[in-house]
Amino acid sequence: MWSIVATWPFSIECVEEGAKRLSCGGYALDAAEAGVQLVETNPAVDSVGRGGYLNENGELALDGAVMDGSTLRTGAAACVRYYEHPVSIARAVMEKTRHNILVGPAAEAFAEKVGFEKADPDYLITPEVRAKYEAEKAKKETSGHDTIGCAALDASGNICTACSTSGANLRMAGRVGDTPIIGSGFYALSGVGAACATGLGEDIMRTCLSFRAVELMRAGKSAGEAAREVIASAHSALKACGLNVHSMAVVCLDASGGTGGAANHKGFAYACAREGEAAKVVFVEPAVDDFVE
Ligand code: ASP
Repeated sequence: MWSIVATWPFSIECVEEGAKRLSCGGYALDAAEAGVQLVETNPAVDSVGRGGYLNENGELALDGAVMDGSTLRTGAAACVRYYEHPVSIARAVMEKTRHNILVGPAAEAFAEKVGFEKADPDYLITPEVRAKYEAEKAKKETSGHDTIGCAALDASGNICTACSTSGANLRMAGRVGDTPIIGSGFYALSGVGAACATGLGEDIMRTCLSFRAVELMRAGKSAGEAAREVIASAHSALKACGLNVHSMAVVCLDASGGTGGAANHKGFAYACAREGEAAKVVFVEPAVDDFVE
């Protein structure tokens, strides 16, 4: 059995690409990475890769991460400018270094050293994104953020994740969200499951959302049950501390190929496909009834 799931309807192209590879016996990480790359390249997705949100200095500084749940190896790159595919730089961090995360100029220097080609800034930052930034930059407030988080199970039983985001709109330069942080933005454990998060990274990190979702699957919950339960409990834990809870969502994949997703807000949907089932988008009802927009 192979299976794949990813955050938001825009990930349908990722899921279709991943499904193509998984159905031919491909490795879960290759499938997830190739799918995420398509979304990184698509300028119509305003929160990932090319065409993504800029930071307060008008820079496109991207975050990406991967994890192989069969080896617990992980790699991440954060605040990377000039490159189109942070997810692949993250994979190179995993495969070519003895570390888990590289950030900023050092991550860019690493990317250059291992042979990634720099992209033209005018290709990465589209005129529409530049114009929107110029119109909004005086606001100095974060509005708009999303992530592609993709989890895949291959026919050999490997469960892997790949994630990519431009981070929150108008974030401080140097701000790192949950997406490249193991256990927060993603977690994978073959034989158990995987989870990937999207939403305001600061809240997701406070609750270690993805690791907790995988622990729920380890305790016997299905992907759908784990997704709903982790969102409800993270939301109420933040509320109980008096925090103003922002949007959070998660997709989960369990070892039997089941997929699910949940959010604390309205309008969340995810894309999924599995052996014998074509790619589709699934809309979910909020897992809590007290989210304030
Ligand atoms: N989690 C991402 C971040 O905070 C953004 C998102 O997924 O909405 O950087």
